[in-house]
Amino acid sequence: MQYDVLVIGACTAGLYFAKRMAEQGYSVLVVDKDKKEELGKRLEIFHMDLGEMRRYGAPAPEAGDDFVHSFKFSASRSALGRWEKYHEHTVYVMKLPAYIQRLVRWAEEYGAECAFETEFDELIIEGGKVVGAKLRRGDKVAPVHAKLVADCSGIPAVARTKLPAGCICENFKLEQTDKFYVTVNYVSFLKPEKVHIRHTISWPFYKVWIAPREIEQGAILGVGANMSYEYGERCLKKFLQDISIPPFRIDKVERGAVPYHRPPYSFVADGFVALGDSVCLTKPNNGEGVTAAWYLVDIAAQEIGAAMQSGESPTAEEMWGVNVRYQRSQGAQFAELLATMTGAVDCSRAENDYEFKHNLIFKSSLRNQKVDKEQEKKDLIKGLLKGVLNGKMRVKTIKKLLHYSTIASKIKHHYMDFPADIHGYQAWKQQADTLWASAGSMADVVYDKEYYLNDCNK
Ligand SMILES: Cc1cc2nc3c(=O)[nH]c(=O)nc-3n(C[C@H](O)[C@H](O)[C@H](O)COP(=O)(O)OP(=O)(O)OC[C@H]3O[C@@H](n4cnc5c(N)ncnc54)[C@H](O)[C@@H]3O)c2cc1C
Repeated sequence: MQYDVLVIGACTAGLYFAKRMAEQGYSVLVVDKDKKEELGKRLEIFHMDLGEMRRYGAPAPEAGDDFVHSFKFSASRSALGRWEKYHEHTVYVMKLPAYIQRLVRWAEEYGAECAFETEFDELIIEGGKVVGAKLRRGDKVAPVHAKLVADCSGIPAVARTKLPAGCICENFKLEQTDKFYVTVNYVSFLKPEKVHIRHTISWPFYKVWIAPREIEQGAILGVGANMSYEYGERCLKKFLQDISIPPFRIDKVERGAVPYHRPPYSFVADGFVALGDSVCLTKPNNGEGVTAAWYLVDIAAQEIGAAMQSGESPTAEEMWGVNVRYQRSQGAQFAELLATMTGAVDCSRAENDYEFKHNLIFKSSLRNQKVDKEQEKKDLIKGLLKGVLNGKMRVKTIKKLLHYSTIASKIKHHYMDFPADIHGYQAWKQQADTLWASAGSMADVVYDKEYYLNDCNK
């Protein structure tokens, strides 16, 4: 069998890419190891920003099917619960499995073919170039040849991790410390007449949030933490001791991980591209991955669609624009955020309150290019110094914040200088490796400081 594009994984990243390539006239096969009716079953409810859905032309959910609820703003609160920030945007609360079925129909309408219960087994590589994959259906393994193989298999990155060592698209696997472990509790309030959760409220200090669910008298109470689910649950316990939430019972618990690692520097190799969670495309501040990935998929569909017009299998060099356009924009912003987060969480509750009150960190929206970063940095330093003079901030916290934000800013500028040409890549990569080595990771903060449980009461 021969296709233009073989997509591994029929979820949000894979189906969106399939649709975008099929609409350009390419023959596309999407395969998934799961049964069609099992797709997306790992999560009942998920959220998407309406503005972002529109930007990518995504189909709208419908009442009685995949639509649950919508709200017009979300809020985040400081560790002591005294300060709140609002973010105005319309958010859709949707049922993930039903929405995935909608995306399957959408991709098929544009001509993509889907095969379920069909598992990726291994890559077929000839002369250093990916030319297809062996697929398992029941006990049978059969080769499928394609000009481009797209890995959209989520965190396991089943195809990317089988690329040969030294490939321009790195083949690293995510270790325990490279993930963020999310526990979602579906709760019902014991006095429902007194509580209505109509929008999301998050407490970044505890990495806890509360959001609407499909029943009015209930809510989703989520926590996410590096290291393990158990560690996250200790964080939730601490949160419930510190912050007052109306009494509830837990109806159901879901657990899942999101990547917490920098993406590979190159998403493409000869005849190959990786997208979505398989390349760690989640927003570092809240773990949302659907539209974070669609940003890259959108670029990939444009660049690869053009590169394949010759009728040949595209080389990494011909698809290089995917890396350049992504890394210089969202890649640079996410990289900066990922590196800054480490410093930002390493503080006490009172310090977090002070940072909220004076709007010291994370005040700009992710894609807001208009913010004067130099002025922001001056304000940050001024605010922090004032905090020390007032006895609200410890010098060691400020040192850490400045250390991480300085590295984060260097990383961002390095990504903005991503080489326009594949030939500049090795030198760029070497410097990027050095910068990331000095950035540390969120897991180090948890390991070394046990900051959360020791420092929380200050
Ligand atoms: C608890 C939790 C809550 C979340 N909430 C949100 C939210 O509200 N909003 C948001 O934007 N993001 C949210 N995310 C993140 C979001 O779910 C992911 O970023 C997104 O689903 C990733 O999509 P994907 O298509 O890359 O991978 P996945 O959704 O993981 O899909 C990968 C697909 O590949 C298939 N596959 C795997 N291995 C093989 C194989 N060997 N052969 C064939 N097929 C294979 C799998 O069966 C699967 O269908 C949440 C994540 C978690 C864990």
